[in-house]
Amino acid sequence: MLPPLDQLLSECETLHGHICPGQVLGARMAVTGCRLIGVSDPRGADKKNLLVWVEIDRCMTDAISAVTGVRLGRRSLKFFDYGKVAATFLNLETGTAVRLAALESSRALAERLYPNLESKKERQMRTYHSASDNDVFKIESVNVLLKDQDLPGRPRGRVSCSRCGEGINDGREVCAEGGEVLCRVCAFGGYYGTIRQVSP
Ligand SMILES: [Zn+2]
Ligand SMILES: [Zn+2]
Repeated sequence: MLPPLDQLLSECETLHGHICPGQVLGARMAVTGCRLIGVSDPRGADKKNLLVWVEIDRCMTDAISAVTGVRLGRRSLKFFDYGKVAATFLNLETGTAVRLAALESSRALAERLYPNLESKKERQMRTYHSASDNDVFKIESVNVLLKDQDLPGRPRGRVSCSRCGEGINDGREVCAEGGEVLCRVCAFGGYYGTIRQVSP
C-alpha cells in the first residue's frame, strides 16, 4: 500500500528539492491514477505492472516518479512532450488505463476556496491537496498505443544507422527509400546540429 499523501509529499520534497503546487498535483495524480487502475503497491508487489506516460517535464513529473517509483531508465516512465499537466497510468496486468489532466478551472477554484491565504502558491497547494478528484482532474478511461518494443526488459533488437553509424535500439530506426536503415536524426533532423566531430 502507498503511504498517506503527506508522507508521500515529504518524499517528493526530498527528491525534487522543494515543495510546490506541481508536486502536490503530481502526487495526487499518482495516488488517484494508481487507485483507478487497481495498482495498490506500485513500488513493491505491483512494481512490474505499472507504466506511466507523462506529458510535461516539470515538477509534476518528479512527484509522479517519486510516488510510484517509475523511472525513465527502467522504461516504466514514458515522456511525451505535450506541455500538459497530464499523465496516463496503465496496469500492464489488466490492460486498464486512465489519463488524468489538471483542470484549468482548478486555478480559479484555489482563489475561491482560500481567498484569505496570502500566497498564490499556498492557495494552490491547499486546493490540490484537499479538493475532490473531480474538482482538480479531468479523468478519462483510455487505450494506450503500446508496442512490444516499448516494454521494459531487454532491448528488442539493435541495428546501426547506415549514415552516422550509431547503434539504434528497440526498432527506433527508419527505413528510407532503397531499403536504407537510418536513425531518426539522419532521416528527419534532430534537436542538435554537429559543429565538428571532436573524437575519435
Ligand atoms: Zn517544483
Ligand atoms: Zn544516423
